[in-house]
Amino acid sequence: MISDSEFVSAAEHLGFVKTYFLPVDDIPTNYSKLVSSPEEVLPGAKTLILMIMPYELAENNGSREGVISTYYRASQKAYKGTKELTSILINSGAHAIYNANIPLKSAIVKYNIGIQRLNSLTYIDGIGSAFHIQNIITDNEFELSILSAGFSPVDCSKCERCVKACPSKAISDTGYIDPDRCLRSVSEQKEIPKEVESLLGNRLLGCDVCQMVCPHNKVYGSERSFTYPLKKLLMGELGDLPDIIGPNLARNTRMICKACVLAANNERTDLLPLLEELAGSKDEFVLAAASRAIDRLEEKQ
Ligand code: SF4
Ligand code: SF4
Repeated sequence: MISDSEFVSAAEHLGFVKTYFLPVDDIPTNYSKLVSSPEEVLPGAKTLILMIMPYELAENNGSREGVISTYYRASQKAYKGTKELTSILINSGAHAIYNANIPLKSAIVKYNIGIQRLNSLTYIDGIGSAFHIQNIITDNEFELSILSAGFSPVDCSKCERCVKACPSKAISDTGYIDPDRCLRSVSEQKEIPKEVESLLGNRLLGCDVCQMVCPHNKVYGSERSFTYPLKKLLMGELGDLPDIIGPNLARNTRMICKACVLAANNERTDLLPLLEELAGSKDEFVLAAASRAIDRLEEKQ
């Protein structure tokens, strides 16, 4: 079995800045139908481990290619790190599973790790909202973390910068996020609703506007934003994207469909020959996305 300090040190080495050891019998159950019971997923479970990995919010670089939010690159790093930590536990003789179906926002609030703000995101003191949280359930015994509410109170109603800055007006003044309008959730879909397609601009994946305007976050320069060429996407050349953002999000058809939207948004008439080829695709989604992009580009000419 592994000690508290050995586990925390391994987690830090992989980029996690905070590790919390929590009781398994106290996991939030507000979405009870979705939550895996710890005993069900791991008989004899003793500890829920929550680990926090921050990432850097970067300004959009204004490119006419596809911009991917820093969130997605960091997500893969956090996921791979969690898999490695789970292996470390198993190799030490414990049983462990990672990525259990736990309502993590609720857990952050419940365990006083952070608070939820008006843009629906959770904030951790000293980190802000730009972080990944990962979980492991194990039968390894750790000394449980003692947490007390420590976040400086802020009245979001006197700020509302995120509500005003949201490009698609997805945040209500009560903090409800409309998933059909939120560009971050829309950008993860294969089919982009027409009502918001132009608002995506050059965003291939993600939108961090509500986080970037929040005074509790630090934003870095645009040189840190990650861009992928639309031409390559339209040609189905994903390169190392599956490794960078994960194979689930980097599926070929999904990327081609979004590249079509972005080609039209960014008036990339140089990509018309490729779009015309794709408009003859046997895939109904690709065919529709390419035809739509051609129509939009022709309207703009
Ligand atoms: S991620 Fe973007 S679109 Fe979604 S709520 Fe925040 S600012 Fe609005
Ligand atoms: S931008 Fe202002 S209103 Fe929005 S979450 Fe941050 S502090 Fe709250």
